[in-house]
Amino acid sequence: MSAEQARDAFREAHGRDPEGVFSAPGRVNLVGEHTDHNEGHVLPFAIDRRTWVAAGRRDDELVTVRSDDPGTEPVSLVVGTLRSATGWAAYPLGTLWALQQEGVPDDEGWDLVVHGEVPLGAGLSSSAALESAVALAVDELTGADLGRPALARAGRRAENDVVGAPVGIMDQAASLLCREGSALLLDCRSMATEDVALGFEEAGLVVLVVDSRVRHDLADGGYADRRASCVAAAEALGVPALRDATPDAVEALADDTLRRRARHVVTEEARVHEVVRLVGSGRPVAVGPVLAASHASLRDDFAVSVPEVDVLVDAAVGAGAVGARIVGGGFGGSVLALVPAEAVDAVGRACRAAALGPEPTVREVAPAAGARRDL
Ligand code: ADP
Ligand code: MG
Repeated sequence: MSAEQARDAFREAHGRDPEGVFSAPGRVNLVGEHTDHNEGHVLPFAIDRRTWVAAGRRDDELVTVRSDDPGTEPVSLVVGTLRSATGWAAYPLGTLWALQQEGVPDDEGWDLVVHGEVPLGAGLSSSAALESAVALAVDELTGADLGRPALARAGRRAENDVVGAPVGIMDQAASLLCREGSALLLDCRSMATEDVALGFEEAGLVVLVVDSRVRHDLADGGYADRRASCVAAAEALGVPALRDATPDAVEALADDTLRRRARHVVTEEARVHEVVRLVGSGRPVAVGPVLAASHASLRDDFAVSVPEVDVLVDAAVGAGAVGARIVGGGFGGSVLALVPAEAVDAVGRACRAAALGPEPTVREVAPAAGARRDL
C-alpha cells in the first residue's frame, strides 16, 4: 500500500513516525480546452493515480523535502527562505510558503516525504497532485482549516510565484475537490464548482489517455499566441472575455484568424454544458461525438493540434473509441479517448501502430476521489 510506503520512507529518513500521511490525485480534463483563460468552464476529473506525502513537524527551523522519484535530491531550507526553493522542491516548499501567506505558522520546521504514482510530465498533473497533498497535510496538521478552495489557490500560487509556471486553478481544484466517479464542473470566472456524476463505469466505458510523447518547440509561444488572439477577439467584440461572446457575434468578426479562434472558445464552452447535460440524462456514450467535435475544433479552428496527435485520435476512433480528442494546451501532448471496455486493447494497439513519433504510452484512468488523509 502506497500510504504505508510513504510512512515507511519517512521513518527511514527521520527515525520517527510521521504525524500523518495524505494523498492527492492527478487529473485529466474531459472537455473544456482553452476555455479556462477565457473565463469559461472546464470539466476535469481526478484520476486513480495519486501522490502521497508523509508529514511531521520538527523542533528546529528547517524544512526538508525528499521524494522517491529518481530525478530528485533531498532539499533542506530554513523556514523563512521557502520562496527561494528551486527545481522539484519549488512545488512542495512553494505550497508551504503560499499557505504561510494565508496564516499557517511560518516559524515551524517540517519534514515532508513524497511517494508519487502520478507519471511526471505526462499531462496528468503530477505537479498539482504534489501541491495538493502537501497543502492538505499542512492544513490538517496545523489545524489551520483554510478550506479546500484556499488550498487549491495555495498550490496555484506555488506554481505561479515560486515554480514560475503561469497555470490556472483547474488542476489543483480537481485534485482537491473531485469525488469518486464524478467530474468537477468549474466556472473559471466565479470559481463556483459542481459535482457531475459521469456514469462511465456503469455504461462499460473506460477513459484512455494516450501520451504521444511529442512536444513541439513552439508549444510555449503557441500557447501565448492563442491567449493573445482570444484577448484580441474579446476586445473586438466588446466583451470582458470570450465566455461572454455569442456565436452570431463571433461569426460576424471580420478577421478570419480571430473568428476561428473565438469560434473554438464559444463552441467548446457549449460542449462543456452539452457533456454535463448528456451524462446528467444517463447518456454517457453520447459524449463520444462531443469529444470528436472538440478535437475538430481544436485542430481546425484553434489550430493547436499536430499530425502526431491527429493520427492517434483517428486510430483510437478507428479501433472502437466512441470519441477522442487532443487534451492539454496543444502542440503535442496526449489524447483522451472514451472507449467501450471491450475495445481498450484494440485502441491501445491501434495507437501504437499508427504513431508517427515515439511509441505512445497508453494509460487507463478512472474518476477517483480527491485529496484525503490516509494515515
Ligand atoms: P505534470 O504536472 O503535467 O506532470 P509538470 O511539469 O507541471 O508536469 O510537473 C512535473 C514536475 O513536478 C516534475 O518535474 C517535478 O519537479 C515535480 N513533481 C511532480 N511529482 C513529483 C514527485 N512525486 N516527486 C518529486 N517531484 C515531483
Ligand atoms: Mg503540472
